[in-house]
Amino acid sequence: MCRHLAYLGPPTAVGELLTRGTHSLRTQSWAPREMRDGGTINADGFGVAWWLPADAAPADHGAGVTWHGGATGDPRDTAVDRAATVSRYRNAAPIWTDPAVEEVLPQLRSTAVLAAIRSATVGMPVERGACAPFTHGHWAFSHNGAIPDWRRTLTDVAAQFGAPSLLEAESLTDSATLWVILHGLLTRADAPESAAGETTPGTVLREVVRAVLARSPQARLNLLLGDGETVWATTWHHSLAVLVTDEFAVVASEPYDDDARWRSLADRQLVVVRPGSLTVESLETDDERAGS
Ligand code: GLN
Repeated sequence: MCRHLAYLGPPTAVGELLTRGTHSLRTQSWAPREMRDGGTINADGFGVAWWLPADAAPADHGAGVTWHGGATGDPRDTAVDRAATVSRYRNAAPIWTDPAVEEVLPQLRSTAVLAAIRSATVGMPVERGACAPFTHGHWAFSHNGAIPDWRRTLTDVAAQFGAPSLLEAESLTDSATLWVILHGLLTRADAPESAAGETTPGTVLREVVRAVLARSPQARLNLLLGDGETVWATTWHHSLAVLVTDEFAVVASEPYDDDARWRSLADRQLVVVRPGSLTVESLETDDERAGS
């Protein structure tokens, strides 16, 4: 299954983060350690998103304007004054074949990066639009896992959450379709008229994970979400580790080096990470906890 990674901290070279460590994300594409019944290598493309301060973005890509993934024209997308804006690079070829990783991406620096390498789920297309990160507004997202019976499951989940148009999905995959549902809810939670603090990105992830599992109990849902300042992640079946210091924070499917400060997370958790801050909450219901 796919592997993903997010970084928050002092400005770092975007490309270097893909090759950092003896067990870098790039190495994990052909030699992952923990696939947990989800394929053997991650050779179906990769992607990386990074955030720039709004004042560093080109003039025609101002704060709050969607760089990729389609400006919606929805005033709620531009009403919030954003500190950062996101862009990305993706390729459907194996990460080890792309010279941009060493020749171009190291020239970009950012305080926030979210990256993924892909092992396409059987039956899903291998194309650039299917490669995470998926972006919308200031959000970037990756899904490591699979949703059995995803077309029916996500049609029903979408109906539960305000019926977003699933035709907006960039690719006919479970992950791209799940992102349409999620970014609709995140944009709504961001809107100035929504009561502050009532719906957080963490509660959005929790509710959507539970709604998917209610219809597709075997779903594997390691989600990774960033807005340039905070990272939210879930563990549901696949591995995830965090390395949090006062200066920086990394969340990764597999540690990229043998730093003793890496902490591996239990299954079925929701984590919220910033430099110097880590919170972990269970995603299980009381019944599940009692039964396990
Ligand atoms: N199901 C998703 C896809 O096919 C994610 C795959 C994965 O985690 N390996 O893109």
